[in-house]
Amino acid sequence: MMQKIIITIDGWSSCGKSTLAKQLAKELSYVYIDSGSMYRAITLYFLRYHIDWTDELQTKSALENIELTFQYNEKSKQSEIYLNGENVEYLIRDLVVAEKVSEVATISAVRDFAVAQQQRMGAAKGIVMDGRDIGTTVFPNAELKFFMTADNSIRVGRRFKEMFEKNPNITVEEVKANLEMRDYIDSNRAISPLRKASDAIELDNTHLSIEEQLTFALSIATERINFA
Ligand code: C5P
Repeated sequence: MMQKIIITIDGWSSCGKSTLAKQLAKELSYVYIDSGSMYRAITLYFLRYHIDWTDELQTKSALENIELTFQYNEKSKQSEIYLNGENVEYLIRDLVVAEKVSEVATISAVRDFAVAQQQRMGAAKGIVMDGRDIGTTVFPNAELKFFMTADNSIRVGRRFKEMFEKNPNITVEEVKANLEMRDYIDSNRAISPLRKASDAIELDNTHLSIEEQLTFALSIATERINFA
């Protein structure tokens, strides 16, 4: 039987990580896990219940009441995240959550909680996971790691288009400010900051189409799987 591997995709916000991760998982019949959705769902919970995440005790006891699960949705053809049984896949994409998620993701109890679950989900391999610290902290021994980048203006344009479809009141400036703030916090935090793992393959998709990017990544993945 073909060996299964772990594929990690890290990089800046809105570089197209999830687009590539989803397609790779589909092509390889692997499981796709969006690690950012876990930080977003935790943030949504904290906002709803007015949890002060700078208070360690309060944060830890709140985390004990959080259960995150993923379920494949036949209609949307993607795996969606559930917070204590409620499908929050769409709610967590809101700017209200995006404004706070990077701050919440700096908290060590939050990261311990998310990383432990991510590692359990990857134990059987055959997984593509995207995020910020997947190749560095979650799966440092992953067989294949990508680090994605793209020009700033391209990233803002892509995210704006995506958010505008759901909320026509949103402005380019708001989207740009949010991306810049998250990238700054994510790459400067003390625990597991966003970094390219030394053995990650850099993929700058500024001038690549979605198809070209998939072809490139898939050929490397197939090669790695054959040699695993
Ligand atoms: O990937 P996405 O943009 O949905 O992630 C939302 C936020 O969650 C990121 O800006 C980052 O602060 C946090 N995150 C993280 N580590 C990960 C994935 C996401 O800190 N592995």
